Amino acid sequence: MKQKKQIIIFTDLDGSLLDKDTFEFHEIEDYFRDLVSKGIKIIPNSSKTKAELSNFNKQYNLNLSFIAENGSSIHGLNLIHKNLPNNIFLSRTVDEIYKIYNQNVTDNLKEKVTFILNLKSNEQQEIFGLSLEKMNLAIKRDHSIPIQFNGTEIEKNEFIKIMNNSGLTIQTGGRIMNICDNVNKSIAMSKTMELINKEIDNEIITIGVGDNQNDIDMLKHSDYPCLVKNNSFDSSLLNIDNLIKSTEPSPRGWADVIKTAIQKIKT
Ligand SMILES: [Mg+2]
Repeated sequence: MKQKKQIIIFTDLDGSLLDKDTFEFHEIEDYFRDLVSKGIKIIPNSSKTKAELSNFNKQYNLNLSFIAENGSSIHGLNLIHKNLPNNIFLSRTVDEIYKIYNQNVTDNLKEKVTFILNLKSNEQQEIFGLSLEKMNLAIKRDHSIPIQFNGTEIEKNEFIKIMNNSGLTIQTGGRIMNICDNVNKSIAMSKTMELINKEIDNEIITIGVGDNQNDIDMLKHSDYPCLVKNNSFDSSLLNIDNLIKSTEPSPRGWADVIKTAIQKIKT
């Protein structure tokens, strides 16, 4: 017989757990820590880099496993079970990704692409909206290339199509677009679940939390999908069963949807 249910929360950070402008979550930090101390596993699943997510753990004195760069890599699963690996890479390297971009995108479209890492430090800071110290962690990218696309909607779709046909993806999150390998938050979440299921006997219930397009697949694959209010994302056409939506933005909206989900799990 299966033992107690194990709840695992896969959560986006910016705009979901963290305030989209200040990147803080003071208002709900006590509640967050309460969940952790009750044994609920919280796994940030973010477009942030490994360096940023390690720093998040350090800053808040947490020991969370996490998924970095839009599903490119999974870290710290050994914290959940000692038999699980510390690092899992699902993506090719930045150099390989750049090579594919370079070989497949037309010159006309290349002119519309700005590589954010090639900009001056102060310009990068403005785009990321981060302090210099935090930005230095954000640019340590192993598997994704942040860009801005300065063309029409038609050109942008054309660009995305070429990337997809070349085996890459364009992931749109908070402030930037990223050229990524054929990965996403949902694939990395499934991989994580597959590994955890091998080591843990408990029945696992997943809660997925996001606020934007790059979270939608992850939500669809969660037992309890949760959407945090984001004024710049139109969720009216979303078709997800049992979607729990917040009326407040992050961070309060995060606590609200989690409370609702946990209530539903208990009943
Ligand atoms: Mg977000």
